[in-house]
Formats: sequence, C-alpha cells, structure tokens
Amino acid sequence: MKNPIAGKNIVIIGSGIGGLSAGILLSLLNFQVTIVEKNPLPGGLMRSYRRAGIDCPVGVHYVGALGEDEPLGKMFHVMGIPVDKLFARMGQEGIIDRYIFDKFTFDLPTSIDFYEKNLHNSFPQDAAALDLIMKNLREISKRMLKTSFLLNQGDPFQNIDYYQSLGEFLDKLKVSAGLRVVLSIPAQLIGVPPADCPVIFHHMVLAGYLFSSWRLKESGSKMADVFVKRFQELGGKIVLSDGAEKILLKSGKVAGTKLKSGLELPSDAVIADVHPKVLLELLEAEALRSSYRQRILNLEETEGVISIQVGVDASAHPEMTHNIYRLSTDEKGKIQDGIFYQLRRGNNNLNLVSIIAKSSYKEWNQWENTVSGQRGKDYEEKKQNLARGLSQKANEVFGGLKNARILDVFTPLTLRDYVNCPEGSCYGVLRSSRQLLKVASLNNIPIPGLCLTGQNALAPGVLGSILGSFNAAKQIAGTERFTREIKWEF
Ligand SMILES: Cc1cc2nc3c(=O)[nH]c(=O)nc-3n(C[C@H](O)[C@H](O)[C@H](O)COP(=O)(O)OP(=O)(O)OC[C@H]3O[C@@H](n4cnc5c(N)ncnc54)[C@H](O)[C@@H]3O)c2cc1C
Repeated sequence: MKNPIAGKNIVIIGSGIGGLSAGILLSLLNFQVTIVEKNPLPGGLMRSYRRAGIDCPVGVHYVGALGEDEPLGKMFHVMGIPVDKLFARMGQEGIIDRYIFDKFTFDLPTSIDFYEKNLHNSFPQDAAALDLIMKNLREISKRMLKTSFLLNQGDPFQNIDYYQSLGEFLDKLKVSAGLRVVLSIPAQLIGVPPADCPVIFHHMVLAGYLFSSWRLKESGSKMADVFVKRFQELGGKIVLSDGAEKILLKSGKVAGTKLKSGLELPSDAVIADVHPKVLLELLEAEALRSSYRQRILNLEETEGVISIQVGVDASAHPEMTHNIYRLSTDEKGKIQDGIFYQLRRGNNNLNLVSIIAKSSYKEWNQWENTVSGQRGKDYEEKKQNLARGLSQKANEVFGGLKNARILDVFTPLTLRDYVNCPEGSCYGVLRSSRQLLKVASLNNIPIPGLCLTGQNALAPGVLGSILGSFNAAKQIAGTERFTREIKWEF
C-alpha cells in the first residue's frame, strides 16, 4: 500500500500483539478501529494459558529493549502501555542467558560492553574478528536508539555487509567454531538458521537483548488484557469468536471484511495481523497478480517447535533469573540441537519449567487433517513420549527435577490451529538472506487500503511485531501525519 487512506474506518484482522498495537496506534490517530479475532480470547501468541493453577507462556518468554530510551520501551510509551506494570528487568545476577555446550558454557551478560568482554575472554584467538563484529553491533544499536528506527525511515542500515548472511560474514572473518556457535544463538530467536540469517536481523535481535532484557511479572494473558484495555479505552472495538472470511474489494480498493458469521464490516482499510498465506485465502484470486501470489505461496516458513510445561517442586527448584540454552554442535560450530529452558515461579507448591525444542511440521503431517483435541491416540502418544524424553533431558540441566509433572505439551499443529499459521511456523515466514527480497515485498501489498502487521510484516518477536504495527499505522495515516500527530517526547 503506497498512499495513506482517505477515510476513518479500519478493520484489523487478528488480535495478536501486532493487531492490538496497530489498533492502539490508529485509535491514537483518531481512526475508528475494529479488531476481529477468530478465537474466543484476544492476544494470539502473546496470551498464556492455565494448567494446575499456573500460567503457561506461549509466545512471550523474554523481550529486549524495553528501557526508557530503547526502541521497545519507546514504542510502549507511545502506545501508553506501562512497562513497569507488566515486565521486570532480568539480569540481577549479571546473566540473561546461559548457553551450555558439551565442552563449555557461555553467559550472555547484561550489556554490550560486558558481552564484548566475555567474548574476548572466551575467544582470545578471535580478537581481530571480534573488533569488527562489535563495531558493527554498536553501529546498529546506535541506529536502533534513534526515532527514525521506529519510523522505518529510508534505509537506516546502509552498510551492505549487514544484508549478507551471518554464515558468510563469519566465514570471511575466519572465526573459531566456538565463537561461531555463540554468535549463532540470536538467529535461533527469530527462527532463522544462523548460516542464512541476515547480519542485520541477527544484530538487531542481539542488540535488543543486550540493551536490557525483561520477563513478564505475571503472565501473557495479563499482557494481552492490558493491550486490550488500552485499545478499548481509546474507543477501539473487538469482535471475538468470529474470524474474517473475505476481504471485500470495490474497484480494486479495500471496502470491508466479511466475517464467518456473515456479518459485513465496511471499512476504508484492512490491516491483516495474519500470515501472508492466510491473507491470500481471504482475497479473491484475481485481486493480486499471479506472480505476486505465487511469490507468497512459495515463501519458506520458520520451523515449528514442541513446547512442554513441567511442574516441579517449588521449594527444590526456586525461580531462576536467567534462561538456559542447552546446545549440541558439530566440530565446525554448527548447532545440531538446541533446547530452551525457563524456570519460573508458579503457584505455592509448583514452579514451572518451560521447555522449547525444534520440531518440524513434517514430523506431524500424518495428523495434518485433524484439529486440536481430536487428533487421536497415536498423536497423543507421540506427543507424550517426546515430552517425557525432553523432561528427562531437563534433569541433566537442572541436576534432577524433583516431583516433575508434565502439565501440557503443544506441537506445531497446536500452534497452526490456534493462531492460523501455516505449518505451525513459530515466527512466520523465514527471514533468511535467500528470501530477503521476497519477504521485503510483503511490506508493500499492491492493493490500496491493505497492509500487513505482526511478525510477518517486518520482523518477528514482540519487538519486530510492534515495529510492524508502527509501519502499518504509518502506511494508513501517511508518514507526515503519523510523525506529526503521534506524541514522540520520551
Ligand atoms: C513458542 C514461541 C515462543 C516465543 N517466544 C518469544 C519470546 O520469548 N520473545 C519474543 O519477543 N517473541 C517470542 N515469540 C514470537 C512472538 O510470540 C511472535 O512474534 C508474536 O507474538 C507474533 O504476533 P502476531 O501479532 O504477529 O501474531 P499472532 O500472535 O499469531 O496473532 C495473530 C492473530 O490472528 C488471529 N487470526 C488468524 N486468522 C484469523 C482470521 N481469519 N480472522 C480473525 N483472526 C484471525 C489468530 O487467532 C491470532 O490471534 C515466540 C513465539 C513462539 C511460537
């Protein structure tokens, strides 16, 4: 979408963090916004669910850059979302993440300076390469602190090196296998194989967490509720349990949305907080050039995950203030297997270990045509077996989990059905170097009045999804109006 829209009525399809943030921003600009959500509760991946009286996270384990002068903190401020009410700063003990490899451990500390120091201490043989890597990382972080970053103005990253893949970049620098694998982890946080992850995305994710890292004080559901409340107090409306079925066009422009119930909501623009392949299903085939459609249909997805929630004895396993990644690599520094662990406070008796491991959609495709809750005994058995195996592995990391009890397991199929993401992809379309140009075109859908938000618009994660909402609101209102009317004082 190239030009701002003339009218005032906006429909947003999907109430994930992308949809809700876009709704808040456009309400602040006096648009009349209705969000439609297929699920009975709003929030998408942001919302947690309860098992054994404990809130289990889905898609918000920790976020970066929420400090006052940092990009996500500034975006929360603009939207009027109180950071302190929802999040607590991590790193009280100096560590955000502990990476445990077979032969060594590396701690991700709380700032860029400490990170540089830890890298130099662990990899003295890579000193020259580290100087260049840190120079780039600092340059990117500096740019992320400018308001122009929130406006996605021009090309803030003119250094061509940033668009190459991390693999290529590290090959040129001839880094050691150890350094390569430590640098690979942030790519995993956006679901891109490190060798193919554009340096720009890698550095943005890493810089975000090094600015400052935060965990939810309570739950993802509370976060979703705070976003919804803010949206509603600005006059926004939400329709729940009624998904969008068709985006209506008139003379090639957006005219409204038809919902599953048959209800039609006329509007001057539609923002889709859904996967681009789902967006195609909502449009008549002839609405887009077939080459554009095909490009979207051919996009590769980020991989799926299996996520397990394990209740453990609270007195034996107090909350850990950092996260753990357990990683196995080959001798060249390529990650073979990676598991994420987070041990959080639960209820009085049980604390919660959340475990996330890779699990490809293919592994589950024999149940592709089933729906959540009705996949049958074989599926349940496979799911529980994998969960038991992963829970056993967690014993190695935590030195034996007392009274461990699996509370829940979700697979790529669960996520697929919950938020409508093809192949249960965790972070939407793959933002790899190979398909960078193809995904960039999602930012400019050639239908007046239609744009994307959420993790598929610009970048995944809480930071990336909200950045996508700033971009969507800018497209709808026009850059000049958006910049003038949004209150930017920080
Ligand atoms: C297991 C996991 C762990 C993660 N951990 C982190 C983390 O620690 N930190 C971080 O920053 N990011 C994390 N992420 C990524 C982050 O959760 C996502 O990038 C972000 O929440 C995506 O938000 P969204 O608005 O794009 O999409 P979603 O949250 O998927 O929202 C889309 C919404 O659209 C609705 N919808 C779909 N189709 C329709 C339709 N036809 N009509 C109406 N509604 C529809 C869906 O029901 C859903 O509510 C994680 C993701 C996963 C899966």
